[in-house]
Amino acid sequence: MNRFAVLLTLLLAGCAASPTRTTTPTAAAEPAQPPPLTYAETNLNATLWAQGTVEHDMAYRSIYAQATRQLALALKQKDWDALPKTERKNALKGLKPAVIVDVDETVLDNSPYMARLIRDNKDFEESSWEQWCHEQRARALAGALEFTLAASAKGVTVFYLTNRGQHLKEATLANLRAAGFPVADKETVFLGLGTEVEGCQTSGTKKGCRRELVGRRYRVLAVVGDQLGDFIDVGSNTVMDRAEAIKPHANWFGERWFMLPNPTYGSWDSAILGGQREATAPVKHQIRRSALRAE
Ligand SMILES: [Mg+2]
Repeated sequence: MNRFAVLLTLLLAGCAASPTRTTTPTAAAEPAQPPPLTYAETNLNATLWAQGTVEHDMAYRSIYAQATRQLALALKQKDWDALPKTERKNALKGLKPAVIVDVDETVLDNSPYMARLIRDNKDFEESSWEQWCHEQRARALAGALEFTLAASAKGVTVFYLTNRGQHLKEATLANLRAAGFPVADKETVFLGLGTEVEGCQTSGTKKGCRRELVGRRYRVLAVVGDQLGDFIDVGSNTVMDRAEAIKPHANWFGERWFMLPNPTYGSWDSAILGGQREATAPVKHQIRRSALRAE
């Protein structure tokens, strides 16, 4: 049975078990109520696309291939740096080379976790997410191994800058090693949520301080991620502020910043929801619908 057939079988099983899907004979005049949509349910198509389609893997391979090609040029050009200008506070001279990659949906594929949520009609929860992380079964995404191994072979340190918490450090590093990723042992290359950075005030899940920490000792040749926050901090996560934040670095896309496509979750969705992130699933569904542009 291929992966799609397996997923479909699981989905059908999930639907059969879900109380929201049970239909009972009622008076003919009673209109059918649509079942509440969980976030996971709205994610069916996106997850199927991300989970093993040729199109998804071609996109990842294309972006990682370009990032790999840029390494030689970036190494040679001594003023080349991929940190946002606001986070580069020291001179580049004498710094060792590094690249910064995000973990989830950048180098590790967590689509089976999303498939489970859809199957079970559940929303994201920290407990189920951490259980998945501890299983250490996430596979390498297309192109990610080639890029990180090429960097490592050139003497470039690979930093894994993630919003997985410090308590998931060992499980994540074990998963990365098992998947074949280079994990330097003479450097703290896991920079998880909660990493203390002296002299830098971290706000929430923002990654700016941790990028700055890498930059204090390294020249950053490339940044790879699937979220805007993997590249630059944004004042407030509004659609407008996000668009403004990238403008000063527009000519870095595909040159030193490599954004991977993730339609399954992310700060793009939080920006659309605005202040309604904690609203009920049907309300959030309506907000997303009203954000559609039909011209
Ligand atoms: Mg990510």
